[in-house]
Amino acid sequence: MRKFLMAGSLLVLLAFRVVGQASSAGAPASALTVIRAGTLLDGTSDTVRKNQLIFVRGERIEKVAEGSAAIPAGTKVIDLSAATVLPGLIDAHTHIFLWGEDPAKGGYDANILKAGIALRAARATFACRRSLEQGFTTLRDVETEGAGYGDVGIKQAIAEGTIPGPRLFVATRGISSTGGYNLEGYAPELQVPKGVQIVDGPVEARKAAREQLDHGADWIKVYMTHRSWVDKQGHLASQPTLTVEELAAIVDEAHGWGKKVACHAYNGVGLQRALDGGCDSIEHGLEITDAQISQMAKQGTWYCPTLAPYYHDWAPENTPEGKRDRKRAEVHGASVQKAVKAGIKIAYGTDIGGIEWTEPMAQEFPYLIQFGLAPIEAIHAATSGAAELLGEKGELGVVAPGAYADIIAVSGDPVKNVQELGKVRFVMKGGSVFKNEIEK
Ligand SMILES: [Zn+2]
Repeated sequence: MRKFLMAGSLLVLLAFRVVGQASSAGAPASALTVIRAGTLLDGTSDTVRKNQLIFVRGERIEKVAEGSAAIPAGTKVIDLSAATVLPGLIDAHTHIFLWGEDPAKGGYDANILKAGIALRAARATFACRRSLEQGFTTLRDVETEGAGYGDVGIKQAIAEGTIPGPRLFVATRGISSTGGYNLEGYAPELQVPKGVQIVDGPVEARKAAREQLDHGADWIKVYMTHRSWVDKQGHLASQPTLTVEELAAIVDEAHGWGKKVACHAYNGVGLQRALDGGCDSIEHGLEITDAQISQMAKQGTWYCPTLAPYYHDWAPENTPEGKRDRKRAEVHGASVQKAVKAGIKIAYGTDIGGIEWTEPMAQEFPYLIQFGLAPIEAIHAATSGAAELLGEKGELGVVAPGAYADIIAVSGDPVKNVQELGKVRFVMKGGSVFKNEIEK
């Protein structure tokens, strides 16, 4: 009886798996769909191509041809001839498990103290749908803020077709040191949960990395700075967290698994330790010195600035928090300008989740352009650039033969008016159309 039950449940599992694969992969592998693109921005080239045909077979792009090319009889054609077609966008810094940090709604702490794990998973599901609706077909989600390995589960649910959502590259729990992360400010007698895994010493650091990688982390996220303030000389200061030795152990472990390490680092000692410890990407990087820019160039370190959130919700001007908020924005813009001039590799990131998921994910584009990127460069930061950061060059962030058919379209010209990227009207992921407001 027991054996029979096991065989039966295995069959059910297998059947479910087949259905799941069909709905996530979309059309059967043999079916051809052709997209007629009026204008094509392919994600890598600076030049725009007119009247192109994109041949999609199964979940990948088979070829890109001139508009006059022959289309086999009976092929499904999607007519985007009046639109601009681009690769699906990539946001390299998100938190699907964060539901904003608005003080009026309980701030960061309410995410952990007031919402149970099922509610948090439901919110993450909402976040994934929001992302896809806005044309962001891939996210690097940089830690769950106390929701454990929930991101691995959400990623599985998307991959099996249970819920709609972008391709997820997940960092699981995040790592910082004692005194280096929220929740904080509670009575010392209380054991409050933390939004990351806390480690002290290289042995614990390596063990945490091993645990997270073992449970499905695609990336490791570490916090190299925590609190920040304006010091007596009027400079931005930030509290360093992990030591170089602790970070180096994490980086060594992650690299051994073929994975990379993203370092949250505002400035100063913590940012220096991030570079000396061999991090792969600097997150936020509010204030980067010239010497640190040179070190990043030499080491090939990626920069994922997140300008928009630092221009939001400043505390009142004459309070310590208000001064800090204004200083952070001021130095961040200047650092991005320096990095652009030095040719540092920049990936698009919003930190959405820290800001509410109802906010537009395209809001980082105008800031990147304001601080020195050409519009086409800002688009590349969210397509082929971010794909390279993820180790997915040629697979994601490009409309070219062999790449996944993650394709979006907007009505206007996003190079002339970047606000167009906030009005994505067509979304295909892996050959499946998720949204089509252009053909009605
Ligand atoms: Zn973040």
